[in-house]
Amino acid sequence: MSLPFTGQFPAYRPRRLRPSPALRRLVAETRLNVGQLVLPLFVRPGKKLRRAIEAMPGVFQLSPDELVREAGEALALGVPAVLLFGIPDKKDELASGAYARNGIVQKAVRLLKKELPDLLVMTDVCLCEYMSHGHCGIVRRENAAARILNDPTLKLLARTAVSHADAGADLVAPSDMMDGRVGAIRRALDAGGFSEMPIMSYAAKFASAFYGPFREAAESAPKFGDRRSYQMDPANAREALREVALDIQEGADLIMVKPALACLDIIHRVKVEFGWPTAAYAVSAEYSMIKAAAAKGWVDERAVTLESLLAMRRAGADILITYAAKDVARWFEQGGS
Ligand SMILES: [Zn+2]
Repeated sequence: MSLPFTGQFPAYRPRRLRPSPALRRLVAETRLNVGQLVLPLFVRPGKKLRRAIEAMPGVFQLSPDELVREAGEALALGVPAVLLFGIPDKKDELASGAYARNGIVQKAVRLLKKELPDLLVMTDVCLCEYMSHGHCGIVRRENAAARILNDPTLKLLARTAVSHADAGADLVAPSDMMDGRVGAIRRALDAGGFSEMPIMSYAAKFASAFYGPFREAAESAPKFGDRRSYQMDPANAREALREVALDIQEGADLIMVKPALACLDIIHRVKVEFGWPTAAYAVSAEYSMIKAAAAKGWVDERAVTLESLLAMRRAGADILITYAAKDVARWFEQGGS
């Protein structure tokens, strides 16, 4: 491959365009702005509740009233969207709290849409927080082993998505990694009168160790086994492209790659290959590692956070899902990136 320019030193000196912030900004190929950010939030039943998540400083499990406050602050800072995760009081083996009409997410969505109608409310669609065993699908135990059943799980996921739509969510985001779930959800939404409801699919979601702190946040750690029989093997990139292709064929309107920093190559390939609206999820440990190192004085929190998000944009992400969304918005208010 030949290079896309013919410049040669000394006629071409790349440093000519780097002397001042103004000039650097003019020629910046990639930009970050607050309109690209999505803030994940955790809601649980209660009142005036802000339960700190130890491994994620600045992130809380919130009761609905506190959720409105937190989301309102984000919106006031210019963050256009939140992604909701629910923590129910009760769990069972059919995740009934996930699709209950008065489930915690359904209630929270109704409240958010009433109090903050301009906020985009996205909902994570999965069963793990509502399952007593913590897996993302229905489990069948066979002697000592347990299998996560794919097809019977689809019905519950579809029901969950429809219940979120019915509560007024603006977008549903299935994260379970069952095969065929985007199609099942699309058909159920259409049949339920929600043909305009967009689906953001966690299309390439890897079985990543970077999700560690999230499991404390969402109280969704599996009680046995792990998620490697349904989430993707981090060794595989071509398979990620097949997952994305499948989800697009099944009706995904936006696709997501998760985690973000460890998957910049996947984000890039997905964007180049499909050109679809693409989200990157900067997951819990990406956030926690920066927070921890910053607390020790080892890194500059603002600089490292912004550079990480910029790298996701440069790789091809249009949408950045990050626990640091409010911090980032504040930094922009204080004087840009
Ligand atoms: Zn799950």
